Amino acid sequence: MNDLVIIGAGPAGLTAAIYALRAGVEVTICESEMYGGQASIIDKLENYPGFESISGIDFSTKIYQQVEKLGAKFIFSKVIKVCLTEKKKVLYLSNGEILESKAVIIANGLKRRVLGCPGEQEYTGRGVSYCATCDGAFFKSKNIVVVGGGNTVVQDALYLSNICNNIKIIVRKDKLRAENFLINILNKKSNIEIIFNTNIIEIIGENNIVNKIRIKTNVNNNITEKILDIDGIFIAVGYEPNCEMFRNQISMTEAGYFVSDESCETNIPGVFVAGDCRTKPLRQIATAIADGAIAGNKSADFICYS
Ligand SMILES: Cc1cc2nc3c(=O)[nH]c(=O)nc-3n(C[C@H](O)[C@H](O)[C@H](O)COP(=O)(O)OP(=O)(O)OC[C@H]3O[C@@H](n4cnc5c(N)ncnc54)[C@H](O)[C@@H]3O)c2cc1C
Repeated sequence: MNDLVIIGAGPAGLTAAIYALRAGVEVTICESEMYGGQASIIDKLENYPGFESISGIDFSTKIYQQVEKLGAKFIFSKVIKVCLTEKKKVLYLSNGEILESKAVIIANGLKRRVLGCPGEQEYTGRGVSYCATCDGAFFKSKNIVVVGGGNTVVQDALYLSNICNNIKIIVRKDKLRAENFLINILNKKSNIEIIFNTNIIEIIGENNIVNKIRIKTNVNNNITEKILDIDGIFIAVGYEPNCEMFRNQISMTEAGYFVSDESCETNIPGVFVAGDCRTKPLRQIATAIADGAIAGNKSADFICYS
């Protein structure tokens, strides 16, 4: 039986591990993708105290190495099913392993939203990307579109404007929801155009690579459809909770964020939540790390006294 299993090796899960390990608890961390989570894809992290500017991957690697040195066991596999309501918690992994544990910390962050249009899934990695900083270099001097309406789409377009030839931002509504200072920078860029009131209805490709999109524009019920020739599409339509497998076990809001008290403990004794997955007013690395510290510390108390 494990002492503590942590789901997710983002900033929250890794920090929880540091606090639990230093309290003498044995820690196993399950991670389905890359350590660092969303933090690993940040181009420049400039609002975390102590680092004026650091890449997300360097920041994540530093925490990962610290956790490894403290003796955590990492399993790079996805948790696909959980039974958490009894004293003994059971977790099923996609590699076939079954883990039993006295306590569990859920730090599974958020998952990307998708457009859901035909062609999106088929061409992911073949012209469809969700990460400008990871994949931008593959689109040097190309014509691309970015889709979304908030800060991320503007940041992505600005980043890509230094690499790509021409960028069209496709916005579903009639305005951007980004911060004014970002919009001001965007307006000064000569190779970025914004298309408002528009949805992407199909992503089309040839020889297994994206080469067109079909878009539909609706201005005051005047609907037009168009095909644009493109070399790639970056999708930045936001994130949502990863809550499905926990439904009917852990209390969550209608939107799927876990509810917890100040100790990060949920309605189930021995199950803690940390980071972006829980209800909170600000989802950032600083707040994920704060949650991780509390959840790691409180789970160690739980294991010690139960
Ligand atoms: C593009 C972008 C830019 C950002 N810029 C900033 C910034 O400048 N400053 C800032 O402070 N914050 C920024 N953020 C937000 C910040 O990255 C997040 O708030 C932070 O990473 C949340 O940490 P977390 O550990 O809660 O979740 P995450 O970082 O999402 O980590 C969760 C981890 O859990 C894993 N996981 C999920 N489900 C499972 C499962 N079933 N089994 C196993 N593993 C699982 C995921 O693979 C992931 O690695 C940015 C986010 C994005 C996307």
